[in-house]
Amino acid sequence: MRRAVQISGVVQGVGFRPFVYRLAMEEALSGFIGNDTAGVTIEVEGPAERVKAFLKRLRQEAPLLARIDSIEMRDLKATGEADFRIVSSQVKGNVSTGIPADAATCTDCLRELLDPADRRFRYPFLNCTNCGPRFTITRRIPYDRPQTSMAVFPMCAACQREYDDPANRRFHAQPNACWDCGPRLSLVHADGSAIPSGDAVAETIERLVAGQIVAIKGIGGFHLSVDATNETAVTRLRERKGRFGKPLAIMVRDMNAARAICALTAEEEALLQTPARPIVLSQACSGNCIAPGVAPGVPWLGIFLPYAPLQYLLFANARINALVMTSANLSEEPIAIHNEEARARLGALADAFLMHDREILQRCDDSVMAVVDGAPQLLRRARGFVPHGVALPLDSPPLLAVGGHLKNVFALARGRFAYQSQHLGDLENLTGLAFFRESLDHLMHTFEVVPEAVAHDMHPGYLSTSWAKEWARERGLRVLAVQHHHAHVAGCMAEHDLSGPVIGLALDGTGYGADGHIWGGEVLICTLGAFERFAHLEYVPMPGGEAAIREPWRMALGHLHAAGFALHDAAMRDLLGASDKETRVLVRMIERGVNAPLTSSCGRLFDAVAAVVLGRRDVDYEAQAAIELEGIAVDEPDAPGYAMELVGGDWTRRDPARISTAPLWRALMEDMRAGTGKAYIAARFHGGVAAGFVQAAMMARTATGLKQVALSGGCMHNRRLARLLRVGLEREGFEVYQHRSVSPGDGGLSYGQAVVAAAMLRESD
Ligand code: ZN
Ligand code: ZN
Ligand code: FE
Repeated sequence: MRRAVQISGVVQGVGFRPFVYRLAMEEALSGFIGNDTAGVTIEVEGPAERVKAFLKRLRQEAPLLARIDSIEMRDLKATGEADFRIVSSQVKGNVSTGIPADAATCTDCLRELLDPADRRFRYPFLNCTNCGPRFTITRRIPYDRPQTSMAVFPMCAACQREYDDPANRRFHAQPNACWDCGPRLSLVHADGSAIPSGDAVAETIERLVAGQIVAIKGIGGFHLSVDATNETAVTRLRERKGRFGKPLAIMVRDMNAARAICALTAEEEALLQTPARPIVLSQACSGNCIAPGVAPGVPWLGIFLPYAPLQYLLFANARINALVMTSANLSEEPIAIHNEEARARLGALADAFLMHDREILQRCDDSVMAVVDGAPQLLRRARGFVPHGVALPLDSPPLLAVGGHLKNVFALARGRFAYQSQHLGDLENLTGLAFFRESLDHLMHTFEVVPEAVAHDMHPGYLSTSWAKEWARERGLRVLAVQHHHAHVAGCMAEHDLSGPVIGLALDGTGYGADGHIWGGEVLICTLGAFERFAHLEYVPMPGGEAAIREPWRMALGHLHAAGFALHDAAMRDLLGASDKETRVLVRMIERGVNAPLTSSCGRLFDAVAAVVLGRRDVDYEAQAAIELEGIAVDEPDAPGYAMELVGGDWTRRDPARISTAPLWRALMEDMRAGTGKAYIAARFHGGVAAGFVQAAMMARTATGLKQVALSGGCMHNRRLARLLRVGLEREGFEVYQHRSVSPGDGGLSYGQAVVAAAMLRESD
């Protein structure tokens, strides 16, 4: 029999053709395989049972990096063909299988790297079809060597032989290279002059052990690196980078080192070892070797394993166990990728630069994941995941969703897929916007998406909003404003193929509301294309606006004022760390409604409680106080929640109910006065927030009959809250859905915007 097989998914640039070739050889079948725009096309011919065996093995033994989304088959007339061939690519039209994601060094390559008898012994850039850089070295499609930054390194005869041999692990491995023909390392000063040494890697290790800061060129950008066990070195890095509270990621030598540093769960161990090699948040072991300055105030560490051969070499002689590897940038600027750029921007930060002459063409930070409520969740989507598509629950016209403001990620959608960009950082300045433009051009080209509409956040003040309107106007495209929390919930629905209506709980930091106030503690009734507000946390003032995010004591004062507390006595001022004058100024702001916008934000409620419980007056990074509040209770059992109260609301008139936090504050302040333990108070607070929203969901079910609940928003990064909500909702008979491959925070926003926009466009047709 002869059968045609059409496979779509991630099947190009991942060794799929040689794999199929080998299978066909082993099953003694004839025919061919070729790449096409949708994936690969195979025709196989031979005895029926052999063809069946071939098809079964195709799924079971597919290469590590391949992802099969669909297989379509049809029977053909036998042609009597004798051989099996790999035919050359013919790629025309819309490409749905662009460039693979970057993947960590595979075990075969790792063995060669450390084998003195291998011709690639200690070669820092070895790779094969199962591993190596992909997205970050590619200029444009199709993914072929001339289109990558490997174009300037002609292969030597030995490498070329591997590249041409379908039976070889390096058949069509585009970045294939060796000592004779590939990229080279160099260790230099900030001025570009060489640091003399016989071995750049050995010299780098010496310098790291001595406590120096070294900028190391990685796969998606430079890292700033110091020995993670050296507190003095960590402090110097923080001072030079001007980054104080925010935890730093640690690259660990191997799984044993990881286990000595963190109390890993089985799920976390599995995540650490995936080819995407994300940073994984895990609870630190007490008394580990990591310098306290790496992650002050939180019981977790973000750890990851080496993923590039160069990184393996840094750990190979076992002198180093753990390295701080933080993106080489200042604050939230884009990560540095070019050699000259790195030396110029990081000259004052790093003592030495370990770099090489393979260009990074696409900036890409490290991805961040955590096990949330028993399953992995992607918190920051970047290296190892970009540019893989995420499925959409409906057909989308070509469109662009520009995302939010902070931690920006945009998305291009077409058909049944949305392609999210890498994490782009904050869109607050022109550097951020330039990176946005650069990445947009690249991804539009990669996926040949020419947007017909542009979706943006409803917030009129976001740079992404004004940019989207301008860009759409120049091109005569339709623009769609999407409410922030509708996008959050729709994203979660779409991940689970739900079209709604569902009850959406959006527990978030900041999002512009349809009434002009700042939303963020929302119970919404959502379909993909529309939403109604069922209930929300009662509005409280944010004295000083944005300043209340940086100084949580202001938020505490706003909440306590709303809950009816007297703010002027000395004990209260002590608790908030506020002077008499500061208190009077803020109370006046609130009472006159000047520079005190109203918010229903759940994130700000966490900030306010953290300010009171932990005495944290201000923060070094967004949500720091809330994260520390979750952290302090990490070993604390669940405790009876502080009650919140549902007030008002008339669903028949679409008048939302309010969830009042006043009773929660009264009980919490009572515990504070009684000197109750802080961890216990934090546990009661988490329990109270979860219980309040479960109660609101029950009220929504009574009004609407809905029993599916989608959880979203930045507060769902809080693992205790995510678990308590799920458990509480399930106990009441709800079906609960959480984000998995899209971030619940603003990193996932553009995916949700694309979903909402596609649904709105469909409904308006
Ligand atoms: Zn490999
Ligand atoms: Zn070579
Ligand atoms: Fe948000």
